Amino acid sequence: MNRTRREFLKTVGIGTAALSIPQLFSSCGTSKQRPNILFIMSDDHAEQAISCYGSNLIQTPNIDRIAHEGVRFKNSFVTNSICAPSRAVLLTGKYSHKNGLRDNRDEFDGNQVTFPKLLQQHGYQTYMIGKWHLKTDPTGFDSWKILIDQGQYFNPEFIENGERKEYIGYTTDIITDMALKQLEARRSDAPFCMFVHHKAPHRNWMPNFKYLDNYSDEDLPLPETFYDDYSTRSAAAREADMRIDDMYLSTDMKLNEGSYERETGSGGSETYAKNAPADWQAQRARFTEQQLKMWDAHYDRVNREFKDKKLEGRALLEWKYQRYIKDYLRCIMSVEESVGRLLDYLDDQGLADSTLVVYTSDQGFYLGEHGWYDKRFMYEESLSMPLLMRYPKHIEPGLVSDDIVLNLDFAPTFLHYADVKVPSDMQGESMKPLLTSTTPNKWRKSMYYHYYEYPHGWHDVKKHYGVRTDRYKLIHFYDDIDAWELYDLQEDPNELNNVYSDPKYDSVVVSLKEELNRLRIKYDDE
Ligand code: CA
Repeated sequence: MNRTRREFLKTVGIGTAALSIPQLFSSCGTSKQRPNILFIMSDDHAEQAISCYGSNLIQTPNIDRIAHEGVRFKNSFVTNSICAPSRAVLLTGKYSHKNGLRDNRDEFDGNQVTFPKLLQQHGYQTYMIGKWHLKTDPTGFDSWKILIDQGQYFNPEFIENGERKEYIGYTTDIITDMALKQLEARRSDAPFCMFVHHKAPHRNWMPNFKYLDNYSDEDLPLPETFYDDYSTRSAAAREADMRIDDMYLSTDMKLNEGSYERETGSGGSETYAKNAPADWQAQRARFTEQQLKMWDAHYDRVNREFKDKKLEGRALLEWKYQRYIKDYLRCIMSVEESVGRLLDYLDDQGLADSTLVVYTSDQGFYLGEHGWYDKRFMYEESLSMPLLMRYPKHIEPGLVSDDIVLNLDFAPTFLHYADVKVPSDMQGESMKPLLTSTTPNKWRKSMYYHYYEYPHGWHDVKKHYGVRTDRYKLIHFYDDIDAWELYDLQEDPNELNNVYSDPKYDSVVVSLKEELNRLRIKYDDE
């Protein structure tokens, strides 16, 4: 039993010896009860922007509600911190080198075994709504409505069970409407598993009109590590093209040509650098006349301000940060609203007790930490994946878990809850024992990570793999570099001091390399 669980029992006045968790929380449901599964996943939503994770930037009461009525995982991590690979791991319960999708350029092989397919074969109604991003059509779903590639923030195009359809409106709201409509249309004689996958708050962070003016009269705090000079790190951090400094005045800052002299951004790919201003014009052209008017009512002021201020150096950088973080948070406000609508629906329909609700993101994100936006690195901000789960009477309310869990674990967890046999080649572990009993002794004490998208693709983050324990993180960057980094998360939670070459840590390096080797053999990664 971990500390937080003991504290919970104390707060409800039950001595830890008096009553065990299984007695407390499993007595109301039989093991054969198969829950509905509502899996809500946003895109690039960092823990730093969720209030139950201690955000100093935003309040997210609806998302927090899942944590307060269920569990919050403090140490949930992604195995490969980038959009499509994270989704492939979710579906298959296998690492990228096993499911065949290592980076955003790869296509997902939909013929392989996925947990929605298994649930479908075992009587579940299965639905996929929102961002899919795996290039091939979804398989294993009774009904699917997906955005094309990354999708658009406004007036999105969907592919619905193979047919293209256009909508007018804000995508986060449209996805929520679709989900509620699909729930209305479900059969009541079988459980459902529904994916609600938001596009937001992915780059380029276009908020809904009603939230555009939030934060207008305040400046948000810079993160502590905003001016990280990468002095103790390998070249990988310095050479990454994802600094807020590198953001585009056009697509990222949403300035119109005429408000700036020349585009100075570089963040992304070489092709994108040439197209950013044109891409921004194309995005503006998607608005209806009325929408454009509402958009410009806010951004005309931003354009004027930028033109007048003639900012340079740090003032320009910090101005960019404010533009970025405010639009990012405003996008989350719609996600937060969506979660509230979905939870309300479950309440209204009497489904709350029979539904396992999950809120997560495909991975974490940098909100200015180390001077960055984006993800990819094995550093904490992008390795961490918010994870909240609620299943009343089965998961104790207010539980905070510090067990290490991974997106690799979703598939076996849901199969376990649905009483479906977990295929032996799935590499994750069911989280159910963590939630219904004390943490099993054999639960993982370390996690394995591997990122591949280099040199082709976006942001120039070098290939790397590594291991993280509760205290340490060892990373090896490879390909056109051969560099190791070691962080002592207890002494240095912000990962500013790479202590790989510090003799004090020699024995730590040796044991972590052994652990890394063990994990590479375990997961069969050469
Ligand atoms: Ca993502």
